[in-house]
Amino acid sequence: MVAIQTRAEIQALLDQVFDPEIPVLTVTDLGVIRGVDIQPGLIRITLTPTYSGCPAMNTIEQDIRAILASTGCAVEIDTVYAPAWSSDWISDAGREKMRDYGIAPPEKDTHSKKVLMGADPTIECPHCQSTQTKLISEFGSTACKAMYHCDDCLQPFDYFKCI
Ligand SMILES: [Zn+2]
Repeated sequence: MVAIQTRAEIQALLDQVFDPEIPVLTVTDLGVIRGVDIQPGLIRITLTPTYSGCPAMNTIEQDIRAILASTGCAVEIDTVYAPAWSSDWISDAGREKMRDYGIAPPEKDTHSKKVLMGADPTIECPHCQSTQTKLISEFGSTACKAMYHCDDCLQPFDYFKCI
């Protein structure tokens, strides 16, 4: 007798897998889970990594395997690189959690297009919502983030870079 998990049960487990770099975000918030295929005795997860080469992805994959192992099903993880992950895939709930955590969430695509045109992005301070902020370093606590400083509340903060 092979147990068949429901999608809701699998989702509840995946919601307990957090991004090791931003521990308030689940893999669902990040938008890296592109598919969940449930068959008797087998769960197949389609995963799209965030930043390629981001060491966090190995941890995320291991955590997904570990948590889904509790179902007693075999777990397969297919990593797909196309379409490439975009910071637009971070859920609105995820953006809210990042702000609460003190990280400025990535700008939505209209802004990043402006950035591609050469304009500096306006990054809102996650502490006081001021837009009087400036870039201190392209690399914050990890390569995925840039470090900013707020001229109003004088606090530094990380900005999750758009890609
Ligand atoms: Zn501020």
